[in-house]
Amino acid sequence: MFGSVLIANRGEIAVRIMKTCQKMGIKAVTIFSEIDVRSRHVQEADDAICIDGSRPADSYLNAERIVETALNRGCEAIHPGYGFLSENAHFAEMITNAGLAFIGPPASAMRLLGDKMESKALAARGGVPVVPGHHQPILGIEEAYALADAIGWPILLKPAAGGGGRGMRIVMTKDELASALSAARDETRKAFADDRIFMERYIENPRHIEIQIIADMHGNVIHLGERECSIQRRYQKIIEETPSLAVDATLRSKMTEVACNLAREAGYSNAGTVEFILGPDGAFYFLEMNARLQVEHPITEMVTNLDLVELQIRIAAGEPLPMQQKQVAFKGWAIEARVCAEDPSKGFVPTTGMVTRYALPSGENIRVDSGIQAGSAITIYYDSLLAKVAAWGTNREEARTTLVKALNGYHIEGITTNVDFVNAVINHPAFVNGNLSTRFIDEHFSGSEFDREPNLEHLRYMTIASVLVYHFRQSLMKESLKHMRPLVGGIPALKESHDYVVNVGDHVFPVRLGGDPQTHNWNVTVDGHEYDVITPEFEYYRRRLVLRIDGSSHMFRLQYDENHIKAFFCGIVRLFEIYTPAEWKLAPYMLRNREEITENELKCPMPGLVTAVNVNEGDYVRKGQELIRLESMKMESSVASPCEGTVERILVSPGQTVDTDEVLILFGTPASPAGRSEEAR
Ligand code: ADP
Ligand code: ADP
Ligand code: MG
Repeated sequence: MFGSVLIANRGEIAVRIMKTCQKMGIKAVTIFSEIDVRSRHVQEADDAICIDGSRPADSYLNAERIVETALNRGCEAIHPGYGFLSENAHFAEMITNAGLAFIGPPASAMRLLGDKMESKALAARGGVPVVPGHHQPILGIEEAYALADAIGWPILLKPAAGGGGRGMRIVMTKDELASALSAARDETRKAFADDRIFMERYIENPRHIEIQIIADMHGNVIHLGERECSIQRRYQKIIEETPSLAVDATLRSKMTEVACNLAREAGYSNAGTVEFILGPDGAFYFLEMNARLQVEHPITEMVTNLDLVELQIRIAAGEPLPMQQKQVAFKGWAIEARVCAEDPSKGFVPTTGMVTRYALPSGENIRVDSGIQAGSAITIYYDSLLAKVAAWGTNREEARTTLVKALNGYHIEGITTNVDFVNAVINHPAFVNGNLSTRFIDEHFSGSEFDREPNLEHLRYMTIASVLVYHFRQSLMKESLKHMRPLVGGIPALKESHDYVVNVGDHVFPVRLGGDPQTHNWNVTVDGHEYDVITPEFEYYRRRLVLRIDGSSHMFRLQYDENHIKAFFCGIVRLFEIYTPAEWKLAPYMLRNREEITENELKCPMPGLVTAVNVNEGDYVRKGQELIRLESMKMESSVASPCEGTVERILVSPGQTVDTDEVLILFGTPASPAGRSEEAR
């Protein structure tokens, strides 16, 4: 076995790989870029070496320096994690040429599988069903028209070198094809320095099903079941589960057989994933093979009770697989949610900032793989994945409710994340029923509408949590003023019941608190509904609160500002305004802050790097016209004009990094729109 392994990655996956190394008694060495100096993967490593600047190209993609570092530090193997250099055959070759072990497949298999077109040809030769299409580079637009007509509309344009959903374009009709093709080419050229695009039929309403395989270097190939990853945004997974409701025993045996055969044909060893889409008619098609450890591997570990990273390391060290197919036992159900630094209410744009407070959920059957802690800086340089929360249960519903509970208690302050969004998704009735497709989010959470009208019972629970916290804080305040004692210790006696009025959105709930606070037993009435509430270990200064309501325990996250309490529960986020009945009468006369709207400036919607400025000072622009292009966390997006008018001043230039809400462009006083647009023409 290796004495030490270098982990050529960062974030949650570096931390996760380290855990297994340390468990196996292997020294875990890691690399980091300048900006990551205080990050978790550096602190938890046995040894960490700085590799140059913050840009991925200088650090985590710097193959020469990484191999050199491994040699200098006496490491015997390199684990690439996922992303970065994990699927780079040249990197794998450099490592083996240097006499080290690459913890992943052989370079030859990676070459065969790394290219989506070549791997499809390989699959087709092996009798694996592939999506009908033209799996060769499209030469020109005329050819594209003819191909699309032959394949059948709608079609999907895909970059051959693609990954992470980049550069893909659905084309519904003929007149969209030319512009979609050139946009796809542009994006893939920038992202992968390759502009080969191919075309296949767009399968409508499919599910994404993948098979985890694992193979040793002695010819043994086995599978570890399927994962369903249909819940995606921008063709990227955010929620995964295993097994899949859509896969019965017959389908499972077909898909796993095909996946293992493909791995054998490619001369594959180590862990890998064969991805398929499954049409509503039950037909499945090969998409691609990911020649690496997958982001969502923890759910497979939870149902098989195996450590995939340990298997990877043992295989790379030359050991045979420790079990045969029939010895793999699948138990229960597991679901994972990816926690990302992104803003679901703004089209999932990446967010940045500093984690100022951090509290992980914990408990039986809950697993959190996280790369962050309080103090972590989330920057524009890397992927937005912060952590993964996975839950296990004996059946799907048990796993789901455990995951809901875990997400309710995952507190991350300082940056906007998708925690409550993924929670809203798994609370959606269609998810509960297992009615999934890759269009799930578009269908059920269009635009910023993730905040649907909430379940009223959930809303009343949140009201209870908010009122209790408010009441405690108020009473403690009064007590402390009365006796001039420090704010510690017991809860003031509740002499009689207390009434409050809670305003949340369009609802006004009368609330009555009663009961015996000494025994932590309360009787709470919300809008005529009565609840028995127990407040175990109430810590009023905490952002998390556990309540036992009618016998079952629930976790809430809360932020408070006087009588305004923002509560987070089951994906519902609401502001609760709490009044005494007398205050409520006066509420309409109280002053409220109103969001200020300025129309003569263009504010930056997200942090990033300006890659292009498409206007000049003095230009007349239309509302919605693209003015600036920004690159952030490996994505490029355009910033459109918020108004019609003249560009008075441009405050940024290409190459500059910008922050959210930074003013990019100032416009002159908007004139009467009609007259000015005539003039502009
Ligand atoms: P998976 O099926 O495991 O999610 P993806 O293709 O989505 O596979 O990519 C895995 C991870 O690697 C994701 O977090 C993705 O954003 C990241 N990733 C993809 N491409 C790159 C890249 N070129 N550089 C760095 N990270 C990448
Ligand atoms: P990536 O390298 O970005 O992971 P994939 O080929 O694996 O690219 O596809 C990613 C996702 O895009 C799939 O999970 C699926 O949601 C969607 N997709 C890919 N091909 C098709 C297709 N032919 N029809 C419909 N959806 C597709
Ligand atoms: Mg894929």
